[in-house]
Amino acid sequence: MNHSKSSILYEEAVKYIPGGVNSPVRAFKAVGLEPIFADYAEGSRLTDVDGNTYIDYICSWGPLLLGHSPKAIVEGIEEVVAKGTSYGVATAIEVEMAKLLVEAYSAIDKVRMVNSGTEATMSALRVARGYTGRNKILKFEGCYHGHSDALLVQSGSGTLTYGVPTSPGVPEDVVKHTLVARYNDLASVHALFEANKGEIAAVIVEPIAGNMGVIEGKKAFLQGLRELCSKEGTVLIFDEVITGFRIAYGGASEYFGVAPDMVCFGKIIGAGLPVGAYGGKSEIMDMVSPIGTVYQAGTLSGNPLAMYMGKKNLELLKTNQEVYKVLATKATKLTEGFKANLEKLGLEFTVNCVGSLVCLFFANGRIENYDDVKRCDTELFTIYYKKMMEKGILLPPAQFEGMFLSAAHSDEDIEATIKANYEALEMVKI
Ligand code: PLP
Repeated sequence: MNHSKSSILYEEAVKYIPGGVNSPVRAFKAVGLEPIFADYAEGSRLTDVDGNTYIDYICSWGPLLLGHSPKAIVEGIEEVVAKGTSYGVATAIEVEMAKLLVEAYSAIDKVRMVNSGTEATMSALRVARGYTGRNKILKFEGCYHGHSDALLVQSGSGTLTYGVPTSPGVPEDVVKHTLVARYNDLASVHALFEANKGEIAAVIVEPIAGNMGVIEGKKAFLQGLRELCSKEGTVLIFDEVITGFRIAYGGASEYFGVAPDMVCFGKIIGAGLPVGAYGGKSEIMDMVSPIGTVYQAGTLSGNPLAMYMGKKNLELLKTNQEVYKVLATKATKLTEGFKANLEKLGLEFTVNCVGSLVCLFFANGRIENYDDVKRCDTELFTIYYKKMMEKGILLPPAQFEGMFLSAAHSDEDIEATIKANYEALEMVKI
């Protein structure tokens, strides 16, 4: 596979951009490769500047549930641009968007738009702290909530891939308020609550962890968090930046039937444009400025282009909720195909699948938390990764990331991926 044009661009990029990329996971460093540079994408396919076309399972890391640039969503955007790209005063579409989010999530009454998932989680924590008058927060090992200081502790995604569990540049004074428990382990949460009585403002959790591979939160674990937070007066925050509108129209909250106090959104609610949002019960959200005293703001928050794409995406999903069954069927077919391949080859690796998220872990046994994930053989994954790429399958370039399926992935795409998986695993076996 020829990557010469990407290579030239990379050489130029490293001169001006740290590592040549604007987000670490795009570096392909974890799989011993150089970044590819995209030229265009359509449906389930991405084509790089060298003309290589891949079946794409990165899909912008989650926002593209309906695939790249679905006509029904992008059409009309030129007219929006022609009317203005940002105003700095309120617009009608922000109200419509907020209504859509609130109606989809029975747990929230009000929502504030921001520009990224990072901003959403960072702001939700500030509000939870303001609401409770407490400083400490509790997160889980391997869960990633963006790159704000307080949350960059024992994190997932690129921090796990590049071994940066807590980043230099984050003052100890800031993270001393961050407590870390084990995912899917309620006892570890109880112990921290016991040791920090009346001090924990918020528990933030990915109800389905999507940044240490894919790990489903156990229902009893999430229900246990709900009960404990209610008892202790702690705000339960579901980080649904990945799962929101992906796992079900009402996200993981609907899927598990567990109601958080606050929810964070990103990705799908912007359909590929920069966006985020956080919401909660009125009592909590009314803490936010200008009616409350917790300050949070944004020059481009509620940007008309992001709102246009996001609103169309949500409206399409709302009226076509059978898409979630279709997506789950595709993901199950892919998972079963991978499992059958592993069995035929006598390999005992684990495949986790929840909704339209799939992850093949190069480790055997159950994968339920960060310790399990750490057992993965990343060297074997690298061999596998390169073979898959040569066969035209673009996987997220790290063991600790899940595959993002979209409605644009056809049965033929899934079959081609299963076939490539068999051939790539054969090479791993050697
Ligand atoms: N929360 C979760 C669960 C995420 O997966 C991510 C990003 O991948 C974020 C928060 C941060 O979102 P953003 O990259 O838009 O800042």
